[in-house]
Amino acid sequence: MNAEKKDLVIIGGGPAGLSAAIYARRSLLDAVTLEREALGGQMILTSEIDNYPGVPNADGFGLVEAMQAQAEGLGARIELDPVESLELAGESGRFLVRAAGGTYDAASVIVAAGAQPRHAGFDGEERFQGHGVSYCATCDGMFYRNKHVFVIGGGNSAAEEALFLARLASKVTVVVRKDHLRAQAAIVEELERNERVELRLMTSVVALDGGELPSSIALRDNRTGKTTVETYDEGSFGVFVLVGRVPETSLLEGLVDLDEAGYALTDDRMATRTPGLFVAGDARAKPLRQIVTAAADGAVAATSAAAYLGLPVEG
Ligand SMILES: Cc1cc2nc3c(=O)[nH]c(=O)nc-3n(C[C@H](O)[C@H](O)[C@H](O)COP(=O)(O)OP(=O)(O)OC[C@H]3O[C@@H](n4cnc5c(N)ncnc54)[C@H](O)[C@@H]3O)c2cc1C
Repeated sequence: MNAEKKDLVIIGGGPAGLSAAIYARRSLLDAVTLEREALGGQMILTSEIDNYPGVPNADGFGLVEAMQAQAEGLGARIELDPVESLELAGESGRFLVRAAGGTYDAASVIVAAGAQPRHAGFDGEERFQGHGVSYCATCDGMFYRNKHVFVIGGGNSAAEEALFLARLASKVTVVVRKDHLRAQAAIVEELERNERVELRLMTSVVALDGGELPSSIALRDNRTGKTTVETYDEGSFGVFVLVGRVPETSLLEGLVDLDEAGYALTDDRMATRTPGLFVAGDARAKPLRQIVTAAADGAVAATSAAAYLGLPVEG
């Protein structure tokens, strides 16, 4: 086997991975960043990025291009190459990273593979993604100011995001397929008290239809099985799918402890229980999953990797 030796392999080219690539170069690490599909990760799932300091109303692609240019300008090597496995190379403490296009023998690894929003699975969900279907209320809520939004999901984060949306939207219809919400009683009470919120229990969204933007929504009553189609002016409403996220932690099996939802447990230096293996961004257990926190994690992880390798670090 012909494995290329590296100080550091960064898995994932979202904001956490790209920020790690920038900080790895600042420590003069010989690193490579491997991205499975397209640079930017979840940043390219939305037309407008909110809440990234200094770049109001950024478009996702523009921000990714700027991060990539900054990393490559410093000499970072970034490859489009999906990683298929990650393992410890015997007792050496080094890692074997197998990607479709090559194998790496790495002294340290940062996994910045992110998380995917869980999809609800109704007809039209993919078609209207970013144009009527959103997976992040904090990010996209502003686009629905004074509009009607449907929230799919009955867990704590769906309920909290529904309350957040009720401050912006004219009406929030929370659609829950069971006869109760899973969210904590206090949050459910708050939803019930909120005049802008309507709860539709035992209901599922089965389809969205329209032109550029959605203009109709089909809802099934799970008690009777009957589906009703509601029509609205095109673009006057949106659907937030808030049924959880799926962390991309399959590569970490056996190497890293995970919480009950599957997120990687790290310390505040992004270190895991395996020396030399760091996790940054949405894949790790943390209170806020946004671009700014992913970029911060990537910076800390690369600096921790440099320290682990005995190199002088900033800060
Ligand atoms: C619709 C939507 C809108 C959002 N809007 C905002 C917003 O306005 N503001 C904000 O701050 N945040 C927003 N977010 C959240 C933000 O995008 C994420 O918190 C952030 O992108 C997480 O960064 P990350 O680098 O940890 O992971 P990701 O962005 O998920 O990137 C992970 C990358 O790793 C790659 N990868 C996974 N597995 C492998 C593998 N085996 N090999 C190689 N590569 C792999 C993936 O392809 C992906 O590119 C939004 C999220 C969504 C879904």
